[in-house]
Amino acid sequence: MTDHLSTQCVHAGEIDDPNGSPHTPVYTATTFKFPNTQAVLDVVAGRTVKPLYTRYGLNPTLLSLEEKLAALEGAEAAWSFCSGMAAESALFMAHGRKGIACLGDAYGGTLELLRDQLPLLGIPTHLLLGDELDQLETLLRQGIGLVFFETPTNPALELFDIRAISELAHRHGALVAVDNTFASPVNQQPLALGADFAVHSCTKYLGGHSDLTAGAIMGAKELLGPIWGWRKNLGQAPAPETAALLARSIRTLPIRVRQQNASAQAVAEAMHDHPQVERVLYPGLPGFRGADLARRQMSGFGGMLSIEIAGGGAAATAAADRLRLFALAPSLGGVESLVTQPCTTTHYGLAPEERARRGISDGLLRLSIGLEDPADLIADLKQALAPSA
Ligand code: PLP
Repeated sequence: MTDHLSTQCVHAGEIDDPNGSPHTPVYTATTFKFPNTQAVLDVVAGRTVKPLYTRYGLNPTLLSLEEKLAALEGAEAAWSFCSGMAAESALFMAHGRKGIACLGDAYGGTLELLRDQLPLLGIPTHLLLGDELDQLETLLRQGIGLVFFETPTNPALELFDIRAISELAHRHGALVAVDNTFASPVNQQPLALGADFAVHSCTKYLGGHSDLTAGAIMGAKELLGPIWGWRKNLGQAPAPETAALLARSIRTLPIRVRQQNASAQAVAEAMHDHPQVERVLYPGLPGFRGADLARRQMSGFGGMLSIEIAGGGAAATAAADRLRLFALAPSLGGVESLVTQPCTTTHYGLAPEERARRGISDGLLRLSIGLEDPADLIADLKQALAPSA
């Protein structure tokens, strides 16, 4: 019988420490001793998995974390990384060389990597927006190997159908990777819906306290196999101290995310009725365009929402600058609420027409809801949006 997610978050992967520590200790060692040469050879030849060298990921703290990461997504295995971008780049190197289609809006760094760097290595990349999905089948017929997308997307909270896209890609022999950072495994399980990989910036909800940078890929062992060498030789494994901090944070992931879901819903509803707000983008609002799909493939709607301020860019900037509890910072998923105006941060690099095509107006503010009392967050937004403020 598989334990529930909350139980897995606490117990999965924890080693049985001889000194009685209730959780896996931090092994800062870079290398590990063996009783004899045969034992070294067994690990080097891949016959057994044992601590060997930390950069290889063969460190007890990392191995323990990876069991927990795999359990989160119901995966056979997981690799941990020193950042979300490290995880994505290793995935693209291992499985994207025949071509990658990225659907919808993605994190700015992902878009830059796909648009500017991977083509320099001869890797064909295709950025399709939500209204261009009819082109996906043509690309699949041409033989691209990997379909990658976020759902919900950043910052417009667009939803993509994981099951339908996975079925289409698999019919053509391509793999599917879902960046599950925004939803977190508490709200969405891409592998159970048919995707081959769940990818995370653990810097966000999994870390949860805005104090660590890490990444992860979860999936079947066979598909993770080719990624291992890229991580090892590009030096992308996380530091043991970071791995331990991440495991510590994952133990409280479900309780944090469920509160963030509830608070974001309350904030979304309050903003929906606010005269200074033109649009609220949140999958948990009944009128939202992706609400039906969200109900089908998510068990909670997450702690991220975007609001479009009446009066455009200048009004949104003024409101963001007046917020007291929301910190003006371009990240997400932590215990503290954050606000960012995408046209000044995450999507600054896109031309205004390109932002408009993606539904990112200058008046859009992205909110990451933390663990403060939602009544205080709503009061803060109301004072920042008051016409006389
Ligand atoms: N994926 C998403 C959805 C993100 O928001 C980010 C960062 O903001 C990344 C990936 C990249 O993660 P990292 O900053 O840990 O490299």
